[in-house]
Amino acid sequence: MANKKISKIVLLGPQGSGKSTQGQVITDYLGIESLAAGDILRSAIQQKTELGNKIASFVNNGEMIPDNLMISLILDELKKTVYKKGFLIDGFPRTIYQASNLDQHYLLDLVINIDIPDELAIQRIVGRRICPNGHVYHIEHHPSGLDSRCEICHQPIHFREDDREDLVRKRLSYYRQETSKLLAYYQQQNKLAVIDGSGSIADVSALIINYLKEHAG
Ligand SMILES: [Zn+2]
Repeated sequence: MANKKISKIVLLGPQGSGKSTQGQVITDYLGIESLAAGDILRSAIQQKTELGNKIASFVNNGEMIPDNLMISLILDELKKTVYKKGFLIDGFPRTIYQASNLDQHYLLDLVINIDIPDELAIQRIVGRRICPNGHVYHIEHHPSGLDSRCEICHQPIHFREDDREDLVRKRLSYYRQETSKLLAYYQQQNKLAVIDGSGSIADVSALIINYLKEHAG
């Protein structure tokens, strides 16, 4: 993979791994566009297109989006000119079927897996506090200087029910189950880079940038 331009990336990592922050670092560094599957789903639902309404019914019933629907959504998005220089996809693929479909249309250069131990993920997520405007704090690592209010907008900060430890454990175990096959699939293709996500944001960014420097021309 040495001396080759890296422009088509899939980013993996459990909740709490700092994945979206690092995704931003990667796209800025490489000058490529990021594609978050969750955002694509949300915007399709908001636009109330035929496809969007279909997706909404799955989401509202707590059902998985069928593979083929997810694939056509992502492939349609990737046709846009903003992705001509390259892309980093977050939240897709989730299954081997999705991954092999993506492979039929795009030759991925790299799959980055930012990994952290479950206990660290839990500690990071359970300690999180958030204001109504989405500013995020952590009781240990990043407490608000105004105690129970947001430093930026002065709104009260609170614990999200979704961040409860039992729910986080459930999501993590589901995530591990889901991604283990995917990791093996990309490992076999020799495209997988595993990055230790347990350090600070700056430490993890440095690990990733070093990796990209070593492997890109
Ligand atoms: Zn705020």
